[in-house]
Amino acid sequence: MNVYDSHRMADVLAPLGYRPADTPEDADMIILNTCHIREKATDKVFSELGRLRVHMEEKKEKGGRTLMAVAGCVAQAEGDFIMKRAPYVDMVFGPQTYHELPQMVMKATGERVVNTEMPLESKFDHLPRGNDNQGVSAFLSVQEGCDKFCTFCVVPYTRGAEYSRTVNEILEESKVLVDAGAREITLLGQNVNGYHGIGKDGKTYGLGALIAILAEIDGVERIRYMTSHPRDMDQELIDAHKDIPELMPFLHLPIQSGSDKILKAMNRKHSADEYRDIIATTRKARPDMAFSSDFIVGFPGETEEDFEATMQMVRDVRYAFAYSFKYSPRPGTPAATMQMHIHDKVKTERLLRLQALLNEQQLAYNSQSVGKIMPVLFDRKGAKDGQLHGRTPYYQAIHVKGNDRLYGQIVNVRITKSHANSLTGEIEITEKILSA
Ligand code: SAH
Ligand code: SF4
Repeated sequence: MNVYDSHRMADVLAPLGYRPADTPEDADMIILNTCHIREKATDKVFSELGRLRVHMEEKKEKGGRTLMAVAGCVAQAEGDFIMKRAPYVDMVFGPQTYHELPQMVMKATGERVVNTEMPLESKFDHLPRGNDNQGVSAFLSVQEGCDKFCTFCVVPYTRGAEYSRTVNEILEESKVLVDAGAREITLLGQNVNGYHGIGKDGKTYGLGALIAILAEIDGVERIRYMTSHPRDMDQELIDAHKDIPELMPFLHLPIQSGSDKILKAMNRKHSADEYRDIIATTRKARPDMAFSSDFIVGFPGETEEDFEATMQMVRDVRYAFAYSFKYSPRPGTPAATMQMHIHDKVKTERLLRLQALLNEQQLAYNSQSVGKIMPVLFDRKGAKDGQLHGRTPYYQAIHVKGNDRLYGQIVNVRITKSHANSLTGEIEITEKILSA
């Protein structure tokens, strides 16, 4: 979502004459867009600011000026602290006020600006029609914020209350993205499947219904969404995976822990078996569905038995991919003041065990792809000359030898090799390719 927000900041600043710069030395303004989800976020901001300050000083010596801004959730949570500790920072603003950037920039040429309001009006009502070119695969925020208050999480405090954009707004923005070259759109939200936006007819649309509308747009060939909450995984969305060919067979569905006791302490409001049922129902609707997840190990009170329940969940589901983290206490969240915090050594040891299992599953998932022919969307140049980077429907990264003309196209590829994090393949020669 920060990638999306950064693109939108560029959109907002374009009328003032700002364009993205290639290097910090070239920049008249530097915006550090930050994330507060896990520990050390603030430390990272200060060390990055220290590095960037060098460019500011150099420019000053030459008689120029660089405006320095800190945006995003660290700014939201620690705005005043940043202003105090880094006197050279000109602007601090949270994720809900960046549409006011032009006014902030004007003001910041004379004084320092802090804007960490949570305005009642949505920023989306004030952002320009997005026209920043995101390329073949584009992000689009449809939902933001969260009211679920999981006990470990800062999102409800930094991104604010749950908000869904209207269907029409999303439709319009999708068309702009497609006109700028997008073939794949990834719908974003902290709880994207909690989406409940108003349609032109005044009715409320869930994510499945929204996807059905977007799939009708000429040029939209692939749709993805991220991140979903198990409690919001409704039948309409599950059926969409069966009925809408544009919707890719990949679901990122965080479980965090496989222990009912820990899920309860986390305030996730579902059990491990309810999660297993969702996976089973989704697999029934779309048998080739690939699953990924997020895990937190070492939540306060997690015993060896609780951790084993997480390992069992992984064995039961068989993930294609996953993110896993050590629990990190976040200021202001209920879990931070819970009893029985787990020693870092134990957290590290559990994380390594979990990651060994997840890596094993990812390798197994990738290796079962070898020999198959899959439609691949080429979304950028590969690292080597004459190579293209693409994605399979299951979100696997793939490198293929091919001509740049295939950029933006969906082409059948025979998978020849699998690696830990990617695949290698060869283009299946067809008449369509020969005439491309
Ligand atoms: N809304 C999504 C997740 C959003 S946060 C959901 O409910 O599942 C993204 C991920 O960061 C989470 O899934 C979690 O695994 C991780 N995370 C959030 N807070 C954390 C914390 N305090 N310590 C460690 N990991 C955390
Ligand atoms: Fe954070 Fe996700 Fe829980 Fe919301 S549902 S509080 S975003 S972890």
